[in-house]
Amino acid sequence: MTDCAFCRIVARQSPADIVYEDDEVLAFRDIYPKAPVHLLIVPKRHIASLTETADADAAVLGRCVVAARRLAETTGYTEKGFRLGVNTGPEGGQVVYHVHFHFTAGRRPRTDA
Ligand code: AMP
Ligand code: ZN
Repeated sequence: MTDCAFCRIVARQSPADIVYEDDEVLAFRDIYPKAPVHLLIVPKRHIASLTETADADAAVLGRCVVAARRLAETTGYTEKGFRLGVNTGPEGGQVVYHVHFHFTAGRRPRTDA
């Protein structure tokens, strides 16, 4: 998947400010942050979209959610709270077709999502 921006980050072929990594998950700072803390959490294995997931992807997607809990701890937002979101498909606002969880913190959550 060399044509995928996030696969290139996983493969260290593109730069990123990586904040968390394990065997299945990578998290890095969003290049255009929309909140004081704006991280992207991705499965290392390419999954294009939530609409492309299989039952076998449940474990790695769960690992992404658990990574969010760790990132809340390391960024100091466990008590204050944070938002985790997955834009999906054209009308869901998805631009990069490699599943990613937006972790945003440090501002009041939007009321429409
Ligand atoms: P989405 O609209 O959910 O597909 O979000 C894509 C996100 O990826 C946007 O918030 C972009 O700012 C971010 N983004 C795109 N390219 C990069 C990159 N090379 N490094 C970090 N963040 C990126
Ligand atoms: Zn990819």
